[in-house]
Amino acid sequence: MRILIVGAGIAGPTLAYWLHSAGHEITLVERAPKLREGGYLVDFWGAGFDVAEKMGIVPELRRRGYVFTEARVVDRAGRRVASLRPAEIMRSGERYVSITRSDLASVIYGALGGAAELVLGDTVASLDDLGDRVRVGLESGRVEEFDLVVGRTVCTPGCAGSCSGRMPSTRSTSASSSRRSRPTDTGHATNSSP
Ligand SMILES: Cc1cc2nc3c(=O)[nH]c(=O)nc-3n(C[C@H](O)[C@H](O)[C@H](O)COP(=O)(O)OP(=O)(O)OC[C@H]3O[C@@H](n4cnc5c(N)ncnc54)[C@H](O)[C@@H]3O)c2cc1C
Repeated sequence: MRILIVGAGIAGPTLAYWLHSAGHEITLVERAPKLREGGYLVDFWGAGFDVAEKMGIVPELRRRGYVFTEARVVDRAGRRVASLRPAEIMRSGERYVSITRSDLASVIYGALGGAAELVLGDTVASLDDLGDRVRVGLESGRVEEFDLVVGRTVCTPGCAGSCSGRMPSTRSTSASSSRRSRPTDTGHATNSSP
């Protein structure tokens, strides 16, 4: 299938990796003009770590990340008031790394090895349900057809059955109206059909 994934953060490239591994042709569209840099530190463990192991990216995550052994709360004089040792509360033991969100995203994207097309500085402007395909209009004016569109895009009141409200996935196989829908990113939706 030709699949469009909206958003090249953590989830988008991860999904792209697995869908590409399953033989699908992937396009990622990211509204930022380049893959995001900097940002906050995330503690990476649990199910995410399990997936990262399966993707073979744990060594690179460890290389770019940090393992903090103790977080301290100190008073004005620098004396320790309280402290937290992650190892004592994490059942995962060594299966843990702290890494900036952007490094995590970059390592995941790197695992794709260029296998997915990446469209930067663009986003979905319209979706047309063609029955067995979805015609996607990007804000840049580019128009293409896909078998599946995955993303967090939100629809306006003008959206018909072809587009769900908060849209984890719009399948071209939906038996819904092909009325033109115009997704936005406003965080609300008026159409709750799946
Ligand atoms: C301060 C802070 C600390 C956190 N700490 C942790 C932690 O310690 N451990 C942990 O597991 N999680 C943590 N999280 C949560 C973690 O960052 C998120 O769960 C994770 O980033 C979600 O990944 P995502 O791919 O769904 O979304 P994001 O990482 O937000 O990526 C979404 C991407 O999609 C793009 N995008 C969005 N809408 C569109 C559109 N319409 N068109 C095109 N592109 C679009 C965005 O530009 C972005 O690049 C933290 C979050 C914050 C804010």
